[in-house]
Amino acid sequence: MKQHILIVGAGFGGVWSALSAARLLDQHGRSDVAISVLAPQAELRIRPRFYEPDVHQMKAPLGDLFKAVGVTFIQGAAEQIDVAGKRVSYTDAQGQRSDISYDRLVMAAGSGVWRPNIDGLNEHAFDVDQIESAARLEQHLKSLAELPESAARNTVVVAGGGFTGIETATEMPGRLRAILGADAKVRVIIVDRGAKIGAALGEGISPAIIEASEALGVEWRVNASVAGVDADGVTLADGERIEAKTVIWTVGVRASALTAQVPGERDGQGRLHVDRHLKVKGQEHVYATGDVAYAATDELGNFAVMSCQHAIVLGRHSGNNVAADLLGVEPTPYRQPKYVTCLDLGAWGAVYTEGWDRQVKLLRKEAKDLKTQINTTWIYPPAADRATALAAADPLIPIA
Ligand SMILES: Cc1cc2nc3c(=O)[nH]c(=O)nc-3n(C[C@H](O)[C@H](O)[C@H](O)COP(=O)(O)OP(=O)(O)OC[C@H]3O[C@@H](n4cnc5c(N)ncnc54)[C@H](O)[C@@H]3O)c2cc1C
Repeated sequence: MKQHILIVGAGFGGVWSALSAARLLDQHGRSDVAISVLAPQAELRIRPRFYEPDVHQMKAPLGDLFKAVGVTFIQGAAEQIDVAGKRVSYTDAQGQRSDISYDRLVMAAGSGVWRPNIDGLNEHAFDVDQIESAARLEQHLKSLAELPESAARNTVVVAGGGFTGIETATEMPGRLRAILGADAKVRVIIVDRGAKIGAALGEGISPAIIEASEALGVEWRVNASVAGVDADGVTLADGERIEAKTVIWTVGVRASALTAQVPGERDGQGRLHVDRHLKVKGQEHVYATGDVAYAATDELGNFAVMSCQHAIVLGRHSGNNVAADLLGVEPTPYRQPKYVTCLDLGAWGAVYTEGWDRQVKLLRKEAKDLKTQINTTWIYPPAADRATALAAADPLIPIA
């Protein structure tokens, strides 16, 4: 019987794991190891674009790609992970419960925004975390045009001034005007706990965030937090009331709850601690990748952050190494010392930085052109052509 690599999740980490495992098997001429990907949809959802309009388009089909490289897709959502029995139970698209066994498991179920217990948050706040929730926000924004003009109708409050909050907020003036009319008096306010604008992203990048916010009319409430949300706005912890028909929650992301079923150490975001080969520490047969892996990127104490930048490269390593483990060949240690950020700042442009201290290298249009290239080309899966796809999955491909 064939040995079996099971990958749970078809995001950036899962797709690149599948391709890189297939690549190593191909290189060794081995057809006695099967690779399966278990996920609710055979599509790569392009989460970094979920703050953009037409969000239903932000996905790429995976069926032909998986066929081209000999990966089996299983449609379903994993529910129980039995690491001792090496089995995963899942519910398929028809609602049937099934079990699948594995020789090696790759956890790649990603992450999700976490909603704390704040009055009215669940009922009234939107988010841009998953394609379904971002589509609900888009529908809501379109429906604002049917409401009579009011301050609340024209105001969006974005809770959280981190990466996702800033990208979402700086896009909003343009999105609102496209719906409400070019002359609409729109208001976008970021509410953030940090002491300064852009504090979460550091000193290097914050001047660009301040300049863009001023140019776009995006206001900030710093040292502030949301205490309650209702259908007509938010109340901040200091008692300030902001009338707003649209509140978008972007604070706090957690690894998939499935990680809790794998015994092992976890970081504050629920990510599983992994070794240099991305095997979960303390587990013989389980690897973790993408947003569920807490992985050192270098020897200086830096760790992967929840990002495509890391998920893609982690995926290329976890797939290669899980296959290497079964084949008995040398694994490739994960290392990704270069860290960059490219922050979209709406109609103002973008800012591109290098290094963990975020030294600004490109601004405005130049950075925006790079961001567009990243978001529309680089992070998409390769063509459904076996040779092209396997070549793209080499873990040693240099990172731009
Ligand atoms: C609005 C937004 C903007 C972002 N901007 C950037 C950016 O500019 N740059 C950047 O690098 N990163 C950005 N990110 C982060 C980036 O999208 C994630 O880090 C990346 O998607 C992680 O990849 P992943 O494969 O680990 O998880 P995901 O992409 O979340 O994929 C998880 C996969 O697991 C599947 N899954 C989940 N639960 C189960 C289950 N129970 N059973 C089976 N399958 C399951 C999902 O369906 C999906 O296929 C952004 C994210 C958001 C939301």
